[in-house]
Amino acid sequence: MATRNGPTRHVFITGGVVSSLGKGLTSAALALLLRQRGYRVKLQKLDPYLNVDPGTMSPYQHGEVYVTVDGAETDLDLGHYERFTGIPCTRNSNFTSGSIYRAVITREREGGYLGKTVQVIPHITDEIKAAIRSLDGEDVDIAITEIGGTVGDIESLPFLEAIRQYRHEIGRRNGLFIHLTLVPYIKAAGEMKTKPSQQSVGILRTIGIVPDVLICRCEHSMTAEHKAKLALFCDVDENKVIEEKDVEHSIYEVPIELARQDVDVYILEMLGLHVNPLELSEWKRMVATLITPPQGLVEIGVVGKYISLRDSYKSIYEALTHGGIANGVGVRIRMVESEEVEKAGAAALLAGVSGILVPGGFGDRGIEGKIQTIQYARVNRIPFFGICLGMQCATIEFARNVCGMAGANSTEFAPATAYPVIDMMVEQKKVTEKGGTMRLGAYPCAIQSDSVAGKAYGRGEISERHRHRYEFNNRFREKMQRAGMIFSGICPGRDLVEIVELADHPWFVACQFHPEFQSTPLQSHPLFRGFVGAALRGQGKNEARKSRRPARPVKS
Ligand code: GLN
Repeated sequence: MATRNGPTRHVFITGGVVSSLGKGLTSAALALLLRQRGYRVKLQKLDPYLNVDPGTMSPYQHGEVYVTVDGAETDLDLGHYERFTGIPCTRNSNFTSGSIYRAVITREREGGYLGKTVQVIPHITDEIKAAIRSLDGEDVDIAITEIGGTVGDIESLPFLEAIRQYRHEIGRRNGLFIHLTLVPYIKAAGEMKTKPSQQSVGILRTIGIVPDVLICRCEHSMTAEHKAKLALFCDVDENKVIEEKDVEHSIYEVPIELARQDVDVYILEMLGLHVNPLELSEWKRMVATLITPPQGLVEIGVVGKYISLRDSYKSIYEALTHGGIANGVGVRIRMVESEEVEKAGAAALLAGVSGILVPGGFGDRGIEGKIQTIQYARVNRIPFFGICLGMQCATIEFARNVCGMAGANSTEFAPATAYPVIDMMVEQKKVTEKGGTMRLGAYPCAIQSDSVAGKAYGRGEISERHRHRYEFNNRFREKMQRAGMIFSGICPGRDLVEIVELADHPWFVACQFHPEFQSTPLQSHPLFRGFVGAALRGQGKNEARKSRRPARPVKS
């Protein structure tokens, strides 16, 4: 349905008043709408912080690190981009002040600016513009660039100046600015207030940016007067003051709400692009299933190390929801801190859940709690899904409690263990730098077709994304295989274990890669679909066991 004339158009999204307004979600929702009107869209996030990428930050600082197919460690908003649009992100989809400055400083050292003074303007802003331009191409009709942070932050200034210049250079017709802002409700006054948004737009205007569209995050509906006021004081057309009210059930409702107000129509009109019909029926059906799942609810326990911050396991929670959609069931998540399992025992904290997932992580805190959790799932035949560190802990648990290898461990946590079932990859032993040096990005995996994973995928070779330094140690493979562990997925050529399973169990699958990064609401990842399906089939069994055997530590 290509109806593009002229160059790649650019949409820039800034945020005002406070952070955490959901700029990433809004960008992803707009991208979906434009795609569903027949346009080829790409998304990008520019983050003003100084880390070269978020890979070295704790999940508590930054939430999940999202890994792209080509192995970049990126902002979690890219997860929204991929989940909403199915459009793959790459290295070009996320730049930070750190990566921009590093490029400029490296060039300076190489003599790339010989004779010149290197400055924020024009050198840093030129580098930012090059990052934006990297999205341009014959195959991209509309590029959406989200600027992280909040206008008014000192560190976002070069980015705002760069997008101002960029729009000037490509011309008004080919680029536009969307400002996402907050219209708070002041309870004591019983009123919604537009002033913070006016001030935020005021800051943008001092930089030379007048937003074309205002998207207002709010708890309550805005009146026509609010919209008129914002339009007048912010110099925005009245119909381009869009309300983005908190959604009732799911983030996947956001595109439907935005479409109701025709924001995608205005964007296309302003960019001189034909307004093709919007095809949103599949999305709407998916949202309807999500809101009223025909099979009711199933509860899944997620036992992690960074539970207190929901964003730490963003893609995992989303992928569980997708697995629920595929099975027509709502997924309720019981978040359990693995250190708590060490204190209270798995039975006490996980009684009643229909499935247990142990996600990825780094460092030894909470590891024993994860291992106890896995033992509980194995012995009590509760569907279990281990991911990355969760898979590593599953092999440690099996080695210790089934194969009699007392003290088996990963050398990440116990370098002197007699049974290093998880060990560092040889090529990793030489690595000293921390940033971007793990086994990252997509690798192939060959799967046994008659295994649980093989049946779930329905094909023999898959490709999944990785982010880890340690691997299963093949020295222990034969012994563990004899004891009943199935090594059902192997990285071809490198003989690295990617998937393990247990034969005598309703559903016990653990993988070294991160399947959660490839799941979308319209296309649930096969392993998440299989896991939630198994939990649904076994629903109630853990409850029954609980009444027979009251909470006490589980022994194998
Ligand atoms: N810490 C483990 C490793 O580096 C697991 C990493 C993860 O779970 N992402 O191998």
